[in-house]
Amino acid sequence: MIPFVDLKAQYEDIRDELEPELLRTAAEAHYILGENVPLFEQAFADYVGVVHCVGVNSGTAAIQLGLEALEIGPGDEIVAPANTFVASVLPALRLGAKVVVVDCDEEGLIDVPAVEQALTPRTKAVVAVDLYGQTFDADPLIRLCDAHDVSLVEDACQAHGATYHGRRAGTFGRFAAFSFYPSKNLGALGDGGAVTTDDEELAERVRLLSRLGEATKGSHTVVGTNERLDTIHAACLSVKLRHLDRWNAARRQAAGWYQEELADGPVRLPRAMPWGDHVWHLYVVRTREREALRAALGEAGVGTGIHYPLPLHLQPGLHGALGYREGDFPVAEARSAEQLSLPMFAEIRRDQVAQVAAAVRAHAGSAAAAR
Ligand SMILES: *Cc1c(COP(=O)(O)O)cnc(C)c1O
Repeated sequence: MIPFVDLKAQYEDIRDELEPELLRTAAEAHYILGENVPLFEQAFADYVGVVHCVGVNSGTAAIQLGLEALEIGPGDEIVAPANTFVASVLPALRLGAKVVVVDCDEEGLIDVPAVEQALTPRTKAVVAVDLYGQTFDADPLIRLCDAHDVSLVEDACQAHGATYHGRRAGTFGRFAAFSFYPSKNLGALGDGGAVTTDDEELAERVRLLSRLGEATKGSHTVVGTNERLDTIHAACLSVKLRHLDRWNAARRQAAGWYQEELADGPVRLPRAMPWGDHVWHLYVVRTREREALRAALGEAGVGTGIHYPLPLHLQPGLHGALGYREGDFPVAEARSAEQLSLPMFAEIRRDQVAQVAAAVRAHAGSAAAAR
């Protein structure tokens, strides 16, 4: 059996370092906003290369609080790519903004020329996604947003440690949102997230909003919410952050193995763009026979995922709010029908990758024989 992700293997990798820290934090009993929270925030800001990091309780909360700090609401428009996780746009919808969807390119990344077409005088922000572990083409999008006085928001939830011309993911926009969902490249023991930014005012607004709007003890100056990062998660994240580069290197190596093993083309392989380090949150191949391949891999004991089976505009719960039709975003729609995520995690071994690849090839062979 080769799981799609193996969080137990990751735990075993750092158990000896992690457990004393978790026990110490539990015994210290400073569960809410204990010292681990500012320590982790500083360490993560330094790692990303920004001045401010605010820990929050999910990636979704990070996006929502950042947009709220930018005062985005009814009457405003944000632009977002069709091929992403719904959490990229749920916050804007919940704030009452209109979400204008654009198509993606062949690698699933936001199509920058399409963004330019989608801008209107009401556009307040572009939410661009560092998808599957690689950044979008940031420089042209930064220039476009600057020229139109639109805020660039970076959804970096899948790209902890990725780079673009030497700059780390999390540094490109007015703010970036990170998720520490357990299976992300940097994961907590449950939900967690962070906002990173160089904008001090924005960071303070996010901090205030996430902490019930409490400016000083007992004095609540804005209508905030409770979306703080728990101390126990910050403690875990501080330990794991020290291993992130090593884990990302292991993911890159695993991606290289897949590339070698599957070079003869039974499926279409993902492409790492030349502008920086891909951190392979997901290894997403494409095939017209996605459902059959997925079933065959399942029978061979190989876990897979689909990211994502429906583009945003065809999600049943979003369809009405977005107002698009099937056919509106053909690249994203084709990807949705064809993409399949193969097992990818830092601890995956070469023989496991070889086994997955053999199962992919075996299915391609039997499918060809059946034709
Ligand atoms: C995981 C993820 C989110 C949301 O993060 P949560 O911590 O699960 O709320 C947002 N956007 C993308 C692209 C993600 O992968």
